[in-house]
Amino acid sequence: MSKKTLIVGNWKMNLNTAGASLLMHRLHERIKIHRDIEVVLAPNLLVLQPISVQIDRRKFRLAAQNAYQKDEGPYTGEVSFTMLQDLVHYVIIGHSERRIHFNESLDEVRDKVAACVRNDLTPILCVGETHNDRKAGESKQVLHDQVTTALSNLTSQEVENMVIAYEPVWAISTFGGELAKPDLVKSEMDFIRKQVADLYGQKVSERVRILYGGSVDNNVVSGFLAIEGCDGVLVGGASLNYHKFSGIVDVAYKLGHNGDSDG
Ligand code: PEP
Repeated sequence: MSKKTLIVGNWKMNLNTAGASLLMHRLHERIKIHRDIEVVLAPNLLVLQPISVQIDRRKFRLAAQNAYQKDEGPYTGEVSFTMLQDLVHYVIIGHSERRIHFNESLDEVRDKVAACVRNDLTPILCVGETHNDRKAGESKQVLHDQVTTALSNLTSQEVENMVIAYEPVWAISTFGGELAKPDLVKSEMDFIRKQVADLYGQKVSERVRILYGGSVDNNVVSGFLAIEGCDGVLVGGASLNYHKFSGIVDVAYKLGHNGDSDG
């Protein structure tokens, strides 16, 4: 089964409405529609609403960066998956910045994934080990725990439709510093797919899309997209720069898909 290459830009807590709108319009001018590539933008929550009415949905899909697992109620300051239903297609869940700075636990991430699919949205579940986990030889155990906990309570259909992003924490936003080697990324992605296979069978594990994230830009993306089993990339810092982000989409286009274009 052929899967679209997924390029996701996580704008994190950057850009006000004017800045986000400008970047989106520049990307719109620069990026062509490719039928085998899906480009997703994840602005901050405040900006999602205005962007959602400006965006060309033939070119981009939207993602939220987080949401709360209850559908409504006395949870001051939170926004539910239910409230995002008309705005976004995807929600990023369990990003390492949320696990680290906001103490999101394995169980909380599991509940968010469940709430996401319950509300007919597609989770982009982020998993990845820290530098200390890797030094201690615990990377596989960490990935096992993150994947198996997050996927408990889901049906096979829900799992095969979701996205998992392998994002080693030590490789995120290193700005020209340490970069994960494609061999290592392949080994950890294979391991993640095996966890899915053990829980839901081979077919589901082949269908689930697995992305790589960690200091990806237009210069290094080809090494990651060339990994067998890598279905795309999750991009942080470089997604704020329209040359770099559209360059990433160009590389995906050249690498994978025979030059077919719809626009
Ligand atoms: C991220 O935060 O998900 C990420 C991959 O960031 P960066 O590309 O800046 O490493």
